[in-house]
Amino acid sequence: HAKEKGPGNYSFYSDDMNQTSLERLAIESNLRNAIENNEFHLVYQPQMRLKDNQYKNVEALIRWNNSDVGEISPAVFIPIAEETGIINQIDLWVISQVCKQLRLWREQGMNDITVAINVSAGHLISDTLLEHLKKEILLNQIVARQLEIEITEAVFVEHTQRTIENLTAIKKIGARIAIDDFGTGYSSLQYIQNFPADTLKLDGMFIKNLKESKASQGIVRSTIILAHSLGLELVTECVEDQYQLDFLTKHQCDLVQGFLLSKPVSPEEILVICK
Ligand code: C2E
Ligand code: MG
Ligand code: MG
Ligand code: MG
Repeated sequence: HAKEKGPGNYSFYSDDMNQTSLERLAIESNLRNAIENNEFHLVYQPQMRLKDNQYKNVEALIRWNNSDVGEISPAVFIPIAEETGIINQIDLWVISQVCKQLRLWREQGMNDITVAINVSAGHLISDTLLEHLKKEILLNQIVARQLEIEITEAVFVEHTQRTIENLTAIKKIGARIAIDDFGTGYSSLQYIQNFPADTLKLDGMFIKNLKESKASQGIVRSTIILAHSLGLELVTECVEDQYQLDFLTKHQCDLVQGFLLSKPVSPEEILVICK
């Protein structure tokens, strides 16, 4: 997980330091044609609502398989896509794909699912994302409420008046907004208080050593209270064991996501889990 090195400090290959910049170049040039070559696909990770144990929320996660460079994690290629600007096309592709999927699921009898979509903070500077969302919602006859846009706290650093306006407009059409990886970035309470969000997603690092760490327990408990005080739902990511699940249930976290419940799966498997 490259992110573990801290914000703005993405390392390219966290496990193998022998990788060269030539390989980065290979990734970059292959990334440019990945959409037209049909090399991306989406998997979906279910979230469980703790109140009733229902699975009605999922997060879309991109996967890339390229014949030259193999299977590459989004933790590696998304930062490169952001640096090179390719991310904007990728974000739009993901939105189209999710909206098509929602239509297909509806045709298969599942019409009450919400899909969270990760988008790059920089993409919100213009209104192309908003316009694309509107277009795809109309085209596929989606209920906008079924879409949740996930942004990271980087949006607070790069944030301009335009960013806030675009997010507010996205909310106005009925889509939801989530703040991803909450607690690892640059959130100030002032931003959070005035931000048009619906959901906070607490980063997995705060539950990694939950059992041993009184500090982590305190952070988790107070973040749940903070979210609820602001009228937001709290999702906790990377739930891997029963202790974590019990703790989050006891302290009234709203939704949980992680390998304990399910890894990211195909659309067909989502139909089985969530219908
Ligand atoms: P994220 O949005 O925070 O997504 C959660 C990541 O945690 C996913 O990694 C997921 O597979 C992983 N995960 C889920 N449950 C567990 C668990 O129990 N334990 C652990 N250790 N990990 C778990 P993934 O799919 O490799 O994605 C990594 C990051 O890449 C994402 O972090 C997100 O920032 C970015 N990303 C993924 N898909 C997209 C996309 O379609 N568009 C954009 N712009 N970014 C994406
Ligand atoms: Mg996410
Ligand atoms: Mg996250
Ligand atoms: Mg995360």
